[in-house]
Amino acid sequence: MSVRRDAYDDALARAHEHAKAWLDTVGTRRVGPREPADVLREGFAVALPEGPTAASDVVDLLAELAEPGLMAIGSGRFFGWVMGGTLPAALAADWLVSAWDQNAAMRYATPACVAAEEAAAAWLLDLLGLPAASGVGFVTGCTMASFACLAAARTAVLARVGCDVARDGLAGGPAVRVLVGAERHDSIDLALRYLGLGAPTAVEADSQGRIRVDALEGALSGTDGPTIVCLQAGNLHSGAFDPMSEAIEVAHANGAWVHVDGAFGLWAAAAPALRELTVGLAGADSWATDAHKTLNVPYDCGIAIVADPATMRGSLGVHTSYVIADDTGAGDPIDRVPELSRRARGVPVWAALRSLGRSGTAELVDRLVRHARSLATELERVEGVTVLNDVVYTQVCVAFEDDETTRAVTERVIADGTAWMSGSRWQGRQVLRISVSNWSTDERDVRRSVDAVARALAEVRG
Ligand SMILES: *Cc1c(COP(=O)(O)O)cnc(C)c1O
Repeated sequence: MSVRRDAYDDALARAHEHAKAWLDTVGTRRVGPREPADVLREGFAVALPEGPTAASDVVDLLAELAEPGLMAIGSGRFFGWVMGGTLPAALAADWLVSAWDQNAAMRYATPACVAAEEAAAAWLLDLLGLPAASGVGFVTGCTMASFACLAAARTAVLARVGCDVARDGLAGGPAVRVLVGAERHDSIDLALRYLGLGAPTAVEADSQGRIRVDALEGALSGTDGPTIVCLQAGNLHSGAFDPMSEAIEVAHANGAWVHVDGAFGLWAAAAPALRELTVGLAGADSWATDAHKTLNVPYDCGIAIVADPATMRGSLGVHTSYVIADDTGAGDPIDRVPELSRRARGVPVWAALRSLGRSGTAELVDRLVRHARSLATELERVEGVTVLNDVVYTQVCVAFEDDETTRAVTERVIADGTAWMSGSRWQGRQVLRISVSNWSTDERDVRRSVDAVARALAEVRG
């Protein structure tokens, strides 16, 4: 292949056209994919061609093969898991990040991306009301954000008892005890497993899935070894927030490090009307969140925040001769994330926040909550529907007369294609889980989705 100045032109023009075709129809098309991966794979998995294919032809082929298997996550009627969407400024910035192809590891080498990420980090801390001096790392998602934060926590709680985990590993030191709410997200268990900390001790939760402070106090009392407490801002089912002030106070009184998993919930702190949910949050030691959920930047973007930047650097930093280390005192991005080489994924965060501003960010979060509340209110008007949670944030859990009906309705809703919601189990019941996390959801989407559920229920009842 000859190296031409215009080598990218045709392929990018085709990609632009396909992207536009997708974005123009994502809000009106059937939400679920039409074909499963096994069927789609037949199209992709031809024998590897012996020779090259033109880039623009590859792009056309990719768009054509993928189309039947794309989930319309960007639809205003996609309510599965907690997936987010993509703000225009963030998507466009993400394209530039790919075109620039910067490795955002070092301040010296890729200054533009690092500067944008540092600005985004400062805005984030301000919007979320977190300590301005905190270390901020842009990782792939909230699981890795918790991993990075808990690596710092592990280093810190062991250092307090005279153990150097970087030098000696975990073997020689005392066990690190980790307390979590009974309804923490499984990614906390995963992060702890990666870190060699084993399975956590679950503390009783209340009817909304919030950790019970009296139970936490009981679990903490009488122990004085290295301890980490993981709290949650935003329960996957109920949207509930652990009582931050009280739980953090009790944990700190017992010498524990407090980590908060706020994958989608941390953003409540950016909306003045919701601030009561997060009162006391800033008193924790570390926070993990996603930008690809509530903030609506493209995958993949998680954010690890540690109040003490030196501890973060001490546990995640790299010290090797070929890295040109920052000498300005600001520190390098590689010292705040587990990866060495990585995409400049904080740049779309800068673009999203620059486009929204303070009021736009608050309004984005408020809007998601407003739609979740109207979904709950409207669904409760349908006979036979019970909303199981207090809708304090973006999550709604609905059940029908029995588990079998709930399962059948979920299947029907998905098959119908107007809206997409997933099934789950919560508090011993089968539920239809609804998560509002896309900026583009509007009142009409809410109405059409409620109608789709009512229709599915009527069909199930025959
Ligand atoms: C999504 C989620 C996670 C995991 O985040 P990823 O970005 O998927 O790694 C952790 N905690 C909660 C509460 C979540 O909703």
